[in-house]
Amino acid sequence: MTNSVNKKKAARKAFKHGKITFKWCRNCATLILGEKCSVCGNTGRTFSVTMPGDLRPCLDEGNLIIKRLFEKHFDIPNPFNGLQILLNKIPGIDRADEIIVDGWLIGTISFDPIIDDFRLELKVDGARALVDVAKSGIIEIRPPGGHMKGKTISGKFVERVHGKFDVNDPVIVVAGDYICAGIARASSNRIFDAEKGVGIRDVGKGRVVFSKKKTCWSKFIQANIDHFKYLESKAVSDVKSYLRNNSNIPVTLSFSGGKDSLACYEIMRRTSIDFSLLFVNTGLEFPETVKYVRCFAEKCGLKLLVADAKDEFWKNVDFFGPPAKDFRWCCKVCKLAPLTSLIESHFPNGTITIEGNRIFESFARARIAFVDANPFVPNQIILNPIREWRAIEVWGYIWWRHLDYNPLYEKDYERIGCYLCPACLASEWKITRELHPDLTRSWEKYLMHWASRFGLPMEFVRYGFWRWKILPSKMKKFAAVVNLPVSHTRSDGIQMKMAPGASPCISGGYTIEGVLNIPRRRNFSKIAELLKTIGSVRYSDEYQIVMVRNKIGNAKVFGGGQIVSTASCPTDAKRLFEATTKALLRSQLCTECGVCVRSCGMKAITLDDGPLISDEKCTRCGKCSDVCVVAHYYDKLVS
Ligand code: SF4
Ligand code: SF4
Repeated sequence: MTNSVNKKKAARKAFKHGKITFKWCRNCATLILGEKCSVCGNTGRTFSVTMPGDLRPCLDEGNLIIKRLFEKHFDIPNPFNGLQILLNKIPGIDRADEIIVDGWLIGTISFDPIIDDFRLELKVDGARALVDVAKSGIIEIRPPGGHMKGKTISGKFVERVHGKFDVNDPVIVVAGDYICAGIARASSNRIFDAEKGVGIRDVGKGRVVFSKKKTCWSKFIQANIDHFKYLESKAVSDVKSYLRNNSNIPVTLSFSGGKDSLACYEIMRRTSIDFSLLFVNTGLEFPETVKYVRCFAEKCGLKLLVADAKDEFWKNVDFFGPPAKDFRWCCKVCKLAPLTSLIESHFPNGTITIEGNRIFESFARARIAFVDANPFVPNQIILNPIREWRAIEVWGYIWWRHLDYNPLYEKDYERIGCYLCPACLASEWKITRELHPDLTRSWEKYLMHWASRFGLPMEFVRYGFWRWKILPSKMKKFAAVVNLPVSHTRSDGIQMKMAPGASPCISGGYTIEGVLNIPRRRNFSKIAELLKTIGSVRYSDEYQIVMVRNKIGNAKVFGGGQIVSTASCPTDAKRLFEATTKALLRSQLCTECGVCVRSCGMKAITLDDGPLISDEKCTRCGKCSDVCVVAHYYDKLVS
């Protein structure tokens, strides 16, 4: 089986829909990660959460949010005092997490961008745990007969309510012997007359009794010490055995200031192999992260190499527009470009870089292997020693080894990156607004300016629609909720029209045609340079036509932006059309970031008002187009 097939299988497995089971030690009141509890030998009670199950501990600010929500809805002060709380990320419009308390899935929290706050949904085990202590949010009903799960119960069945609640608040419903998790469909003072009184989400029986033992995270480490020893020794031995066979290549550790790279630091330290820290300062890092990284390197006595993007983001943002989750030009400009420069100058013969990538982080990362060549940075080999670790394992390891982590985690950030990253959640943006009002104000001001330039409404900024070029279906639905036409969510002024599919050509073969509308930034002749990376080129300045030919077919580009590709089969015609369109994009929109120059192993590119290609050196491998941020526009234009 090929490596790529293996990677796809791993990705599918980690992110398939459904539930995954974990174990909870009742004696020690903590999660068990291995076969049994290392303290008491208990094999534990099982509980299930949504896949992929990247459980993480709920830290300071997160605890306060959960405490506030349960106090608000059920009037229980400090409901989970001394109990371990875990969170598990689930899909949602914004941040959404399952809440696990004492090994029971008791509810979910989700951030609602409209109210700019979290909402709580109760699960049946939460209702069973809290029914005897809640002073508010309880509805007693006469069982209506038949199944209740998923039904809406009329107010005429309501016998008594405890405390006040509003429409859509989570409630505990007591129906005879049954205890249900519900949602109020009417407020507490109207419910008795309401046709729709309360929705029943799930139905259970009996009580859930939380442990009386106070527990702390050090108990979790003790209970899993054998597991952590195993994780560490496997990671250390994997790294050591790879490096033993490549001892002539200098080693670096990609240190972002996040928890995963911190765990990798400790693994590297235990290999006793020399390494330096690599930090990419995108110019958009949180001040806390920059300070933390510098202090950490100093404290550990490690050499810190900083790839500094300086103000590249701000130099490019007018051109590309706000970065989007599906158009992260910023990563290429602010990460890849400075990193390739740094590696080129410090490690001309290459480096092996240890990275903290984990498969449970995202579907894209689910495909990573232990050894990965960086496709965009020549001479960089990546090792991913913690790729199979879950977030809770990373945290346990950090606590076990007493490592100092970035203080931003205590503020309830799930991941730490650039402060204006389009991958940030609205919930995280809210935290940033409180922590760094100056940074958020200036970015929001920029977004407002950009929105008015393209005639977009303020909802585009307010609800974070700027974070996508093409909205995923969940955001399309959200756009409908806030009455925002999808066409008003994002436009960057570049357009392409393509005739649908390939048409048979009279002279044989298949043809694809399209028109690319882009601002002309350079002379049309520049396209001839870029087409050299595809095949042999003929150019007529008089007629403003350029033609490229290679072994799969030929393509023509006309001065008005028309592109025609012809090949013997539709697939090849499409490939050629794509390569030609990308060349046209690069010829006009190149920002001279230099990423392609550094990624070309043949040293065939120089920059002079856009790329110049050496015909003698170029092997037409296409790598320069793969790494180019403006060529990436193509994917957006055709989708
Ligand atoms: S990366 Fe270099 S060799 Fe490959 S197509 Fe581009 S210019 Fe040519
Ligand atoms: S063509 Fe090269 S230099 Fe220009 S934007 Fe693309 S990667 Fe950067």
